[in-house]
Amino acid sequence: MTADALIVGAGIVGAACAAELAALGMRVEVLDAQGIGGGATAAGMGHIVVMNDSPAEFALSRYSRDLWLDLAPQLRPRDAFARCGTLWVAADDEEWQAARSMHAAFEAQGVVAQLLDAPALRACEPALAASMAGGLRIEHDSIVYAPTVAEWLLTRSPGAANIRVRLGATVTSVDASGVTLADGERVGAGQVIVANGLGAQQLVPSLPLQPKKGHLLITDRYPGLIRHQLLELGYIKSAHHAVGTSVAFNAQPRPTGQLLIGSSRQFDTTDPTVEMPVLAQMLQRAAHYLPVLPTLNGIRAWTGFRAASPDGLPLIGPAGEFAPGVWLATGHEGLGVTTSLATAKLLAAQIVGTLAPIPVEPYLPVRFVEKVIHE
Ligand SMILES: Cc1cc2nc3c(=O)[nH]c(=O)nc-3n(C[C@H](O)[C@H](O)[C@H](O)COP(=O)(O)OP(=O)(O)OC[C@H]3O[C@@H](n4cnc5c(N)ncnc54)[C@H](O)[C@@H]3O)c2cc1C
Repeated sequence: MTADALIVGAGIVGAACAAELAALGMRVEVLDAQGIGGGATAAGMGHIVVMNDSPAEFALSRYSRDLWLDLAPQLRPRDAFARCGTLWVAADDEEWQAARSMHAAFEAQGVVAQLLDAPALRACEPALAASMAGGLRIEHDSIVYAPTVAEWLLTRSPGAANIRVRLGATVTSVDASGVTLADGERVGAGQVIVANGLGAQQLVPSLPLQPKKGHLLITDRYPGLIRHQLLELGYIKSAHHAVGTSVAFNAQPRPTGQLLIGSSRQFDTTDPTVEMPVLAQMLQRAAHYLPVLPTLNGIRAWTGFRAASPDGLPLIGPAGEFAPGVWLATGHEGLGVTTSLATAKLLAAQIVGTLAPIPVEPYLPVRFVEKVIHE
């Protein structure tokens, strides 16, 4: 039977879109070349964080974080959802001023946030270096293990009976009425949604996506050593570098007691090898904030690739001239776990023709058409 909607990709974004459309009563087929929750979803950190670099990023991440908080009671222990909060760390007076501005901006928009001066920061996170100037705590930010949530969305969410998942199915081309697989099989559908992360470049080659490589390292178990997801305030600058290599301190307390340490950003490479100089630079940066770090036992390091668009926002909506009649949900860069649930709501509203819960315009792929296709 032909599905109402066919989704390419069973990462967190494809899975969220499938669950949303299925809950609306559509019969959904999901195709993935590998397994559920692979790709960037398996490589990433799973920090659910409100980011405020632009009004559009704020609107999407804030709305999506609320959707995660609503979903959390249904998730299982193995989905490792924890409401640990984010603690933005100010290393000096300049960053302390930045923390104060960020606090004012969040407060004005109703996001619960508390400024911590140096003694309060130390009481809150004693493992941080004593030299830190202060911090900003965002109480409702959370963490999750996204690969198992992708599996939950596809197999156990309220509409899951309407979802069929086919693994080991590599899609080689897409059009408005279906897709073609690597073995030549044609799979038809009412709607075709490209949600395969960076792999969207192969199916829609004119898309303006760029791989941004990231390194992560996980330690042995040190329960209680840190309590919040810790990020340096300089992270925001680093996250938006468009060239070269940058690192920023980012540490996550896993529910297992392990510390997940990030993060790096590199352009112009698709080589997944762990690069020792980049890993060393990232860990040195982290040790500046967490002096105990060099005494901890690191047990595994790996890399992943974020799918970055030119303006740092995802592409959600009709592909337009990029691929007529096809829908896109890709380009989520370093925020795709956070923004997956909102992406699904925005895409579903466009497909079924209802009013989206937040304006869709900033994320429409058409914003790049002039630049990429007509220039
Ligand atoms: C190091 C790192 C840290 C990160 N940290 C965070 C974080 O803390 N918080 C956050 O919100 N986000 C984070 N991210 C970003 C987040 O992980 C991604 O934005 C998100 O996982 C993207 O999900 P996706 O479903 O779009 O793509 P993916 O997870 O890449 O899934 C794509 C799927 O499509 C399949 N596929 C590809 N091509 C084809 C094809 N031709 N045919 C069939 N199937 C295909 C793949 O097998 C894969 O399963 C991080 C990313 C990295 C790399």
